[in-house]
Parts: sequence; structure tokens; C-alpha cells
Amino acid sequence: MNKLDRLNFENTFARLPDSFHSRLNPTPLPDPYLVSFNAEAARLIDLDSEEISRSDFAGYFTGNYLLPGSEPLSMLYAGHQFGHFVPQLGDGRAILLGEVRNRGGELWDVQLKGAGITPYSRQGDGRAVLRSSIREYLCSEAMHGLGIPTSRALCIVGSDEEVYRESIETAAVLTRLSPSHVRFGSFEVFYHRGQHEQVATLADYVIARHFPHLVDDADRYQLFFHEVTLRTARLMAHWQAAGFSHGVMNTDNMSILGLTFDYGPFGFMERYDPGYICNHSDPRGRYAYDQQPQIGLWNLACLAQALSPLIPAEQARDVLDGYAQAYHRHYAELMGAKLGLINAARDDIHLIGSLLALMHANRIDYTNLFRSLGDFNSSADATNEKLRGQFIDRAAFDAWAAAYRARLQQAPVTDSERKTRMAAVNPKYILRNYLAQNAIEKAEKQHDFSEIDRLLKLLAHPFDEQPEMESYAAAPPDWAQQIEVSCSS
Ligand code: AMP
Ligand code: MG
Repeated sequence: MNKLDRLNFENTFARLPDSFHSRLNPTPLPDPYLVSFNAEAARLIDLDSEEISRSDFAGYFTGNYLLPGSEPLSMLYAGHQFGHFVPQLGDGRAILLGEVRNRGGELWDVQLKGAGITPYSRQGDGRAVLRSSIREYLCSEAMHGLGIPTSRALCIVGSDEEVYRESIETAAVLTRLSPSHVRFGSFEVFYHRGQHEQVATLADYVIARHFPHLVDDADRYQLFFHEVTLRTARLMAHWQAAGFSHGVMNTDNMSILGLTFDYGPFGFMERYDPGYICNHSDPRGRYAYDQQPQIGLWNLACLAQALSPLIPAEQARDVLDGYAQAYHRHYAELMGAKLGLINAARDDIHLIGSLLALMHANRIDYTNLFRSLGDFNSSADATNEKLRGQFIDRAAFDAWAAAYRARLQQAPVTDSERKTRMAAVNPKYILRNYLAQNAIEKAEKQHDFSEIDRLLKLLAHPFDEQPEMESYAAAPPDWAQQIEVSCSS
């Protein structure tokens, strides 16, 4: 494990031509203090966790001091925001310090989010507030705990510097780790400027770094786009199966590696509702929960256009045509597993769909219902009273339970084996808005960061029974309905 001044920086993105980024230093924040540190993520960059006891630790992760070997820059990109193309965005408040190669040979981007004004800040102040930093920090680690591809979070550093949003808040810097911060919008910016050479340069860079098996293939661009498409389809299936809504699926927030990233007004669905909109700034529901898979495809079509100098239209269309099938295959697999089905088949989608319809009609908590379904007793005379009691329409539950029982009997596993399998895919704990809100309020009002650490620890193991944390699995209290999450961050 390395000391802070010995991180093994190897900055490949900084080697790209100047048109890809702007070099700059972070803007210092006064009197920074450590809010939370994630030792598990520190291991990804071989950072010695003991280093947090240094008095200058927090200052390194606001950018007040520069980590030796880093070459800070902001990345240029464009993006389709809520359906409209914005020709230039770029990191308006994020600064990539560089990439660290770990002992396993992996390269990890180390990025400070909220590190001050950049050439791409537009009207923004270059800052992130403590509230949204806590949400991203906890959610990215919760997603990782759930086994969903995501950027990671190393630490949050706070400062008492005031930041103006709907009200006055305080600034924080989130240190984000990711194999890449290249987005669909990173290609779009050059395509729409007519700079097709740069599109090729970026594609070659991404292929060499992340898809090295394609480097020598004559069809590498098409195959690369194919992989991005498959990864995006898989990610959408994961989000749907987890009941996760991202909230701002603009193409500048779509990772070229199919990772969840740029967490803003996300939400985990509680009562099942396919039209669930987590983002208060999206009243028309462009990014509603049930829209996500098709928005994934829409975004891939934007990427296809940006890659059109490299991939003939017909080939790109063929790739896009494979999206729906890939999505449905992953979704059926994930949902079949959530029901504990062995050899999930096409027909199982009806059993899944009818359960979801029942959950919707009966306003049932998505996460908790699947978790408790592990206790389903499949013997013919069982009434499953506890489960049944969650449904207002008992007769409808009985009918569904009969179909479920019949399906379970096709596969030779005992109820207890099935329960074990289901507990490994149906989380007990998710990052409910009210849990995040409790941690945020303690941090904001009392400078008490213990709840952040408690949630971080809990959500790293969302499938485990953690008896002392039982109350954290509860459906939201009434006050949680007042929580409004918007783009403001
Ligand atoms: P987001 O919706 O958070 O992905 O942000 C969209 C764009 O706005 C990105 O280019 C961000 O870098 C930029 N942005 C968001 N908030 C700020 C801010 N406070 N200051 C400067 N730029 C920002
Ligand atoms: Mg963004």
C-alpha cells in the first residue's frame, strides 16, 4: 500500500491532444475536513488507509495540494440534455487528477468533483454541495454492493465555504474513481463540430485502453460500438431489476463502459410504480423508471451518429437492432433469479409481469416484497399468510401464488435452497431516500458524519442479514414523501 505521495500515476488521457481537455489546477477550499473515507475503494488505487491520519490528507482531496504525479485537467464533452443537443458541456466542476495504476495492473481515474471553476463551468460555480456529494458517495458504493457496474467513491471532503443553491449550503469535494470518465458526449462534441479525426482518435484511445482485444480487428469500430451497446443493455436491465432510476440520462451522463455514473437526482423505487419519476426537475417523466431501457437505446443512437464517420450506417443499425434482444435477455435472467427460478425461460416473463402488476395495484414495496418472496412455501396446502397479508387483493395474490407454485415445481430445488439463492440477488438493504436524508441532515446540522459511515458499511453488504440494522430495511416513514430531489447539486 502506498503513501499519498507515492500513488502510481500514469496519465493516459492527458496524453491525448489538447483539444480533448483543458489543463488547470483545482481552486482551493478553505479549511477542508474529512467527511468520510472509503477504505475499500482506497485499495483500488493501492492507497494506504493509514494516510487519513495525516493533517494534510483532506487538503489533497480538495486539490489544495496536488498529488505528486497528477496532471489535473477537465474533460471536454457535449451531450443531448433532455432530448436537446448542447454543443459544448465538459467538466464544469470536475477535475481529473489522472490515472493510477494499481498492483493488479488496473488503471483508475481519480477525479475531484466540485473542485472549482473550469473553462466549461458556464454559469455554474464549479462547486458541489455536501448533500449531493453524500448521495453520490453512498449510492455508487450501494450500486457496487448490489453488483451493478458503477463508478466508485473514495472520500468526501467538506468545507464551511458557502454555496448557493435553492438555499445556502456548504461545499464538498467527492473523489470519484472510475476505469474511465469518457461518455457518449465525449464523441458527440467532435462529431458535431465536424472534427472527425478527433472522433477516430478518441475511439482508438478507448479501444486500446478498454477493449484491447479489438485493436487489430478490421471491424474494430463496429465491434466496439457493439460492446458498448451490449453493456448499456445490460446496465439498463440491472437498473430495472434493482428498481433504480438514474434521473438524468443525458448522453453526457452515459458511460462508454456501461457504468452507472454521474449520480444526481437518482432514486430507488419503494412502492412499485412503473411511471416512477425520481427527479423533481423532470415533470414530464422523460427519464421515468419505465422509460430507461428505451432511453438507453435512444442514447446509443446518438452515439451511433457521432461514430458515423467510422461505422457505416447499415452496420450501426444492425448493432442497434440487437439492443432490445440483449436487454430482454438480461432482464429476464435477472428477474427470473429474483423469483428463484432455475433455467428461466421466455414464458417466465408473464409470471414476472403479473407479479409486478399486482405489486403496482397493491402499492407494495418493491425491494421488500422480493426479499420476502424468499420465504414462499411451495407446498400445495401452504397459504403463505405473511406474504399474502401484504396484498389488499388476496384473491389475486392466491391466483398468482398458484402459478408461481406450479412453476417452482418444474425445478427440483427445495424451498430452503431457493431461499438462499433468492437472498443472494434480492437485497435486504437499499439506499432509500430517507436513509440518505438522515445522514445528510446529521452531517449538515451537527457535523456528525457517523451515519454516512454506518450506511456505507451497511450497503456494502446489501444481501446479508444484519440484525442490528434491521430497522434500515423498513419502508419509508411518512415524512419521506416530502423529500424532493432535483437536478440541484
Ligand atoms: P449534470 O447534470 O450534473 O451531469 O451536469 C451537466 C453539466 O453541468 C456538466 O457539464 C457539469 O459539469 C455542469 N455543472 C453542473 N453543476 C455545475 C456547477 N455547480 N458548476 C459548474 N458546472 C456545473
Ligand atoms: Mg454529468
